[in-house]
Amino acid sequence: MNSNTFSLLTNAIDIKEGEYLPAYISRLLSYGTFIKPREFFSLFESGIPHTSEGYLPSWASKLANSGKLDISMDDLIDNHLGGKFWRSFVNNEDYQSFVNKQLYGEGTNRVLFPEEKPLTKYAPLKYCQRCRDEEIEQFGFPIWKSRNQLTSVFTCSIHGDVLHQKFQRSPPIPDGKSADAFLQVDGYQPKLTTFHRWLEFETNMVMSGGRQASHELLNTYRSVFLESSFYKKKGTENDCRLRIQWSQALECYLRVLFPLNRDELWYRIKTGNASVTAIIDCEKRVHPLFLLLFKTFYMFQYKA
Ligand SMILES: [Zn+2]
Repeated sequence: MNSNTFSLLTNAIDIKEGEYLPAYISRLLSYGTFIKPREFFSLFESGIPHTSEGYLPSWASKLANSGKLDISMDDLIDNHLGGKFWRSFVNNEDYQSFVNKQLYGEGTNRVLFPEEKPLTKYAPLKYCQRCRDEEIEQFGFPIWKSRNQLTSVFTCSIHGDVLHQKFQRSPPIPDGKSADAFLQVDGYQPKLTTFHRWLEFETNMVMSGGRQASHELLNTYRSVFLESSFYKKKGTENDCRLRIQWSQALECYLRVLFPLNRDELWYRIKTGNASVTAIIDCEKRVHPLFLLLFKTFYMFQYKA
């Protein structure tokens, strides 16, 4: 496959609005046997992905940077990889340096936020059944939406229906062999609680606030936790109570969000990366999900 064939292919099968990039690539690769995954990925100097690396896999950075999809890098990452949400959780400098390492550096298995690997590995793919049926009618195939793949999104933004969650043994990656992983069939529809609704509300707020404003707001929250009356000094009674209650709450939250892999996930997470100390230290990167969960805990559950 050469660059011309690639353009012909991506022009004929274009990425749909908000379509989740890994699912789109899988859709391209499943189109015909003439597309060899190795050749496809080598066109933008990437190997075939073997694991899901997190929010921004290196193959996706390379593809976005290559300009081969005729979409700007920011657009691709923000609208097709959920960047509109998670980029508010990192400052621009750190983000750029991460992307540069992916594009030009040696290591490939880096992630932007601590604990992204287990949280990505056990995250379900999610779809709305009504969207699926309407899209099959309209396009002949269903679209995986990038927004729906965020861990803290549970309902369809168009229909309001509860999304079907498809948990799988191995994370769905566009390696040319995992087309089945991207079929919109089956899945589990959780019974949503106020907890789910609140997390989704917070997620929508981050996305609609704009990157810079949301980033500043999130940093304010983190420093407010530090100054607030319940968090005094390390080792005090207040501090111990907070740490114990937070650890218990986090375990419960993750069990709700990852019902099928809850024990595996809990034992793989280094809780230090979700500790109170990590959450309130603006110098440290903390996984977006942990920060949103901590906020939820702080507002509704913590008993001082
Ligand atoms: Zn829908």
